[in-house]
Amino acid sequence: MNSKEDILFRPWNELQNLQNHKLHDFITRHLYPFSPYYRNIFDENKIKPKDIKTVEDLQKLPFTSKKDFIALQREEDPQKKLAFLLQPNKELIKKFLPKSELIKFFSSRIFHGKEYLENCLEKEYRPIFLTATAGTTNLPLPFLYTSFDLENLKVYGSRLIEVFDIKKDQRVMNVFPYAPHLAFWQTVFAGFSGNIFIISTGGGKTIGTEGNIQTLLKVKPQYLIGVPSYVYHLLKTAREQNCNLSSLNCIALGAARVPKGFKLKISKFLDEMGASQVSVIGTYGFTESRCAWAECPTDIETSSGYHSYPDKEVFEVIDPETGEVKGEGEDGELVYTNIDARGTCVLRYRTGDLVKGGVLYSPCPHCGRTVPRISSDIVRASNVKNVQLSRIKDTIVDLNTLEYLLEDKEEIDDWQIEIVKKCNDPYEVDELILYVSLLKEVDKEEFTTRLNQEVCSSSEVSFNRIHFVSRKEIQQRIEIESAVKAIKIVDKRPGV
Ligand SMILES: [Zn+2]
Repeated sequence: MNSKEDILFRPWNELQNLQNHKLHDFITRHLYPFSPYYRNIFDENKIKPKDIKTVEDLQKLPFTSKKDFIALQREEDPQKKLAFLLQPNKELIKKFLPKSELIKFFSSRIFHGKEYLENCLEKEYRPIFLTATAGTTNLPLPFLYTSFDLENLKVYGSRLIEVFDIKKDQRVMNVFPYAPHLAFWQTVFAGFSGNIFIISTGGGKTIGTEGNIQTLLKVKPQYLIGVPSYVYHLLKTAREQNCNLSSLNCIALGAARVPKGFKLKISKFLDEMGASQVSVIGTYGFTESRCAWAECPTDIETSSGYHSYPDKEVFEVIDPETGEVKGEGEDGELVYTNIDARGTCVLRYRTGDLVKGGVLYSPCPHCGRTVPRISSDIVRASNVKNVQLSRIKDTIVDLNTLEYLLEDKEEIDDWQIEIVKKCNDPYEVDELILYVSLLKEVDKEEFTTRLNQEVCSSSEVSFNRIHFVSRKEIQQRIEIESAVKAIKIVDKRPGV
């Protein structure tokens, strides 16, 4: 046993029992009594909360999706906007808490007084922190945390540190953009709870890339964590300045799917800066979960999958068309349920993220943890929903595939895709234009033909034009220094 948290190494059937127990407990004592949204869902569907005893029982309940959150945000009544928030009060406690829990409540009131009880409730349920969705096409959606959830954020943080295997004397540099976004704060809390030195620079927007390079050189971290596009830009700029970054031995990226070619490009830069045998690993998380999961540090060829927390959540994988629950290792859409949370809580939340290889329940071959592992091959919903599923020439194009292909190419430095109307005419067909900067000299004509052939065989489209531009121009286009997230895809069609 090499972890403080034995729970993550217990046999899966024990963890499963714990998960079922916590699910039942959460629904009967917290979610149904105090969540206006879910109490309504249970009542409308005539489902008794006490009948949800196991993960399988969840199938009796309908799904929740981002659309439900957006609909509530559009409500005039501020109270309705908070329908996903757990909000206990005296009447609800009396009316809905199971008898055993009520007895506990009243005896604690007798022993410690009314004020004590009110303080406890206030502390457990009062929202004091939030992170929000990036909101590129919709309004940003806020997810609230109470001090209970912030304690959990620390638990997740120390689990991330343990999965990454960061030692006490090692240092971490966090270049996630400073914003009310989960990735930045999860990393900050990981440092607090793991008792690890983490410097959080806020990324390029706060102190600029030069400031980040100076910090890298001064702090000499072993770990660097951030979004792939910015980490790539930072390391490439550092290499151009012939920096010595030999201290680095692990790059952790806040991205669900990082192509091998991208990992190799980063490893090459690092190798040229004195850092060899660097692991490049991924983390997965979404605003709604208020936590992140990590892969084990493995070599570039293999991936352990994301180590989930069965004592805190339930993951289901479903057929995105029919909603049918899939078996172990089967492809589908990830569905997430809280079983140990306060603040904004969700049940059977459809992430929209499609996972190839599903969830595995065998122990991790790298670290031995027995927790369910989510396959690292995830196509993010945020990409699909925002711009990726565009109707171009009457073909639905999943731009995730194009993105993956371009990131994987060893010749390509950086890129941006523009979707425009031909001749700027709103009644014309759509066109796909690629702007690309290169890492090495190529025969441009041959490269254009080859790239378009590959794009065509994977997505059944091709670029109408490919423009080769300088690195400086591409950096300006994607706004790497100033945007919170690099702008890799621009939809310039009117009305989009
Ligand atoms: Zn592992």
